[in-house]
Amino acid sequence: MIYLDANASEPVRPAARAAVLEAMALVGNPASVHGAGRAARRLLEAARETIGSAINADPAGIVFTSGGTEADALAIHCLGHGRRLIVGATEHDAVRAAAPEAVILPVDGNGVARPDRLEALLANGPPALVCLMLANNETGTVQPVADAASICRRHGALLHVDAVQAAGRIPVDAASLGATSLALSSHKLGGPAGAGALVLAPDAPAGPALIAGGGQERGRRGGTPALPAIAKARPASAAALAGLRDAIEAAAIACGAQVLGARAPRLPNTTCLALPGAKAETQVIALDLAGIAVSAGAACSSGKVSRSHVLAAMGFDALAGEAIRVSLPWSAAAADVDAFATAYAAMAARLGAGRLAARAA
Ligand code: PLP
Repeated sequence: MIYLDANASEPVRPAARAAVLEAMALVGNPASVHGAGRAARRLLEAARETIGSAINADPAGIVFTSGGTEADALAIHCLGHGRRLIVGATEHDAVRAAAPEAVILPVDGNGVARPDRLEALLANGPPALVCLMLANNETGTVQPVADAASICRRHGALLHVDAVQAAGRIPVDAASLGATSLALSSHKLGGPAGAGALVLAPDAPAGPALIAGGGQERGRRGGTPALPAIAKARPASAAALAGLRDAIEAAAIACGAQVLGARAPRLPNTTCLALPGAKAETQVIALDLAGIAVSAGAACSSGKVSRSHVLAAMGFDALAGEAIRVSLPWSAAAADVDAFATAYAAMAARLGAGRLAARAA
């Protein structure tokens, strides 16, 4: 199996696997005062320091959660308290479901949020919490978050940034982004599923916890932290994947595919390929039969394939049902690209898709 679905879950890195086993050998609970508890606490605090220095954030502002979904929900619950919500049109369901009443901030045809629209939305009305993701999970589009942060500051608004797909793939510097909070997720960084973090800026207002429990994480998130999953969650770099991603795109374009969102800054590992005339589900199944794992849009929910709100917001109504997401993991190699190119060309020829488009172009 050639795994090209890293945005659903990265393969666990060997160092993270070793750290999980090491952490599981510890018997203590980080909240206990005895020696075993203190050893667990040391590991927890070391992970907090490592993440803080990797993304230039104050470790004291890092709240460990069960994953990205909880980090987004916690941000909206805690920072959105008493504020109106404004949410980017291409945000992940983790944000959308936690902010069902939010006003939508539109994006352009490449999936980039429009600063003028943000200005207009913030110009009138009570204080707001804006949610704008750093990188999109379906297209890889990178948002101008630092610009949005300064617009928000000018209008007294807070900014929550879902950095789940960005961390580990592009440099993330929390201090220079200037957001109020960032969400991270371990299994998108090559760690195991079951851990994530909300990274709060030093000036983030205190708000109510989503889960109060026993007051862990300085009262900001109750529950015993998942130490083995947290132990080695650290962003690496995926810059080297851009060349492989470009080769995948070239192979697909030669078969008549279109790259959606190609004109915006993007993650180096992600491409959204629409093949006119071929249903996304059919493509995913055909590639799976050829031993290639990709997905149709955001496949991190229940495995269902539903209409992509991301591609719809970018104006791709017809092509949305014909687009697949290819997302390269940290372990991808040139041979994976060759295998993809062969399988994709065979699929496009068999489905008779894209060829008309290729001839017309
Ligand atoms: N935010 C984005 C952009 C995502 O892509 C995902 C998962 O795919 C999440 C949040 C949810 O993260 P988790 O699976 O850790 O709950």
